[in-house]
Amino acid sequence: MSTSARYWREIPQRYRLEAAKCRKCGKVHFPPRVICNTCRGREFEKVVLPDAGRLLTHTVIRIGPSAFSNETPYAMGIAELDGGVRLTAQIADVEFDELTVGMPVRIEFRKLREEGEAGILCYGYKFVPAR
Ligand SMILES: [Zn+2]
Repeated sequence: MSTSARYWREIPQRYRLEAAKCRKCGKVHFPPRVICNTCRGREFEKVVLPDAGRLLTHTVIRIGPSAFSNETPYAMGIAELDGGVRLTAQIADVEFDELTVGMPVRIEFRKLREEGEAGILCYGYKFVPAR
């Protein structure tokens, strides 16, 4: 399967933050899984993650993977959303010295990068400070 086909298949998750909640133990998986890694359950209900949370940890990337090299330096963080799911994403619209553990963030959809000569725009989620 080509990269772009995979990208389009993933769009509902990326845009709507769809996660899978285990019907047996209640654990929320994002991205969704086929088998629950806590109780081995196989039945899930679709839930939409909250778009707000708090930053658990953060770091500044000064030398990034080549696809992102024109964006360095940039900040990455792990946030715990309301409800307990953890997400890793770039943190946008922030001065690095403003970053603190526990700061409230919101999830926004932003352009991640342009892919090659075809110019496929990749969108995804980023954290922004909730002010
Ligand atoms: Zn489970």
